[in-house]
Amino acid sequence: MHAIPATWAFRIPAAVILLAFSCYLQTGNSRVLAEETKPVFRAGAATSNITPPLGELIVGGWQPIPATNIHDELHARCLVLDDGNVKLAIVLCDNVGIPREVFDLAKQKIEAATGIPASHLLLAATHTHSATTARGPLKTLAETDFTDYQRFLAHRISDGVRRALAQLEPARIGWGKIDEPSEVFNRRWFVTDTSLLANPFGGIDRVRMNPPRGSSRLDRPAGPVDPEISFVSVQSLEGRPIALLANYSLHYVGGVRSGDVSADYFGYFAKFIGDKLGATDQSPPFVGILSNGTSGDVNNINFREQSPRKYERYEKMQEVAEKVASRVFEAHQQLTFHDWVPLAAQHMDLTLKTRQPTPAMVDHFAKITASSESNSSRRRSREEIYAERIGKIQQAPEEVSIPLQVIGIGDLGISAIPFETFAETGLELKDRSPFKDTFTIELANGSYGYLPTPEQHRLGGYETWLGTSYVEENASRKIVESLLEMFRSLQQDNGRK
Ligand SMILES: [Zn+2]
Repeated sequence: MHAIPATWAFRIPAAVILLAFSCYLQTGNSRVLAEETKPVFRAGAATSNITPPLGELIVGGWQPIPATNIHDELHARCLVLDDGNVKLAIVLCDNVGIPREVFDLAKQKIEAATGIPASHLLLAATHTHSATTARGPLKTLAETDFTDYQRFLAHRISDGVRRALAQLEPARIGWGKIDEPSEVFNRRWFVTDTSLLANPFGGIDRVRMNPPRGSSRLDRPAGPVDPEISFVSVQSLEGRPIALLANYSLHYVGGVRSGDVSADYFGYFAKFIGDKLGATDQSPPFVGILSNGTSGDVNNINFREQSPRKYERYEKMQEVAEKVASRVFEAHQQLTFHDWVPLAAQHMDLTLKTRQPTPAMVDHFAKITASSESNSSRRRSREEIYAERIGKIQQAPEEVSIPLQVIGIGDLGISAIPFETFAETGLELKDRSPFKDTFTIELANGSYGYLPTPEQHRLGGYETWLGTSYVEENASRKIVESLLEMFRSLQQDNGRK
């Protein structure tokens, strides 16, 4: 574990010297000098189109399918903040999960073009299930080894940040939160019928992901939800909205036509919040952004009840986006804006052990592979999909280095985790964070599968299966402790300032 120190180290002496200098010159034109050197808070935002060509493979369901239509364009939504000393960028991409290598390529480009260090760039995927894949076989980190779409994506993210940077203007910033419990449901359930609990490893789990809706066989959910919508809003000194970044712990909504590319409810939120803030037809355009919180085990299905009615395609996601945007708008009315707040960021790499299949698992899947080879044209079974994944895992390294990051915006802390993170992990971070307000952006700076807690691993279920989750069962604990340590370090630097 190695934490890269934030650029505070450069800032503190400069600020102290400046203060000492202005105290020393308490006569004549010293006040003018103090006025001139007061740091100015600035913000800028831009969207970069990352829509893939038709024919690329949509991933998010059990089997990839080619994109045959673009329902709505995909974007990298970019926000750049600058406190006069430290610049940082947050970018949300309409994608199900983007590998670290692609984000790192984007960061290299951004750092080379703008000087903003990679540690201060938080790049994440929204987790729309109707975007095409940004994964691909990467043999080396040479740019030529990336797929066309990966290169395009990295380039467009970089362009978006550069354009947001070009829009920087003096700004005010505020943040708030409000609950919306009605659209989040834990999707892992204890059920009374063991036939619902069989796993592809030939065993029986204790909980079931996405059990039958409205069934009498449902007992209780296996975990909590986080109903909080957090948001950060920036506006010009005249009050013109520049951007609003929200965060809600909901997997996605769905309800798309097969073969359609769509940003899901994340895209609709971006539009609706702009409409509510009266930020239509602005120049530069307002940028709405919805990031994914900790929703690895949380979706939009109310399992207790039968579906009330049949929704048209894209109807439900608009309904949810409208509700989330309305709640944010409501809380936005009471928001206190600050003329200046300190910014800080820290990044570290954490080494985690990867899980390896047991000899019994290898045996089980060898039999499945042997009996399925003659029948390759039909749709593959769950067992066959996991047989292939387990085969690949056996070739994978025993350790993986994953990126962790924290951002401080005044007394708001943002943590970034490169996994589909469970709600209880996000709640724990909110609870234990030394910052007054905290939220987590998942699938940030990489994409390494699900991150169940050790307790959830013991219950089994889809998210815990090897091939869905890849790292040691204790990983969520190590990640939480590392992020809290980084938060404390940011705050100490803040206090010294
Ligand atoms: Zn998902």
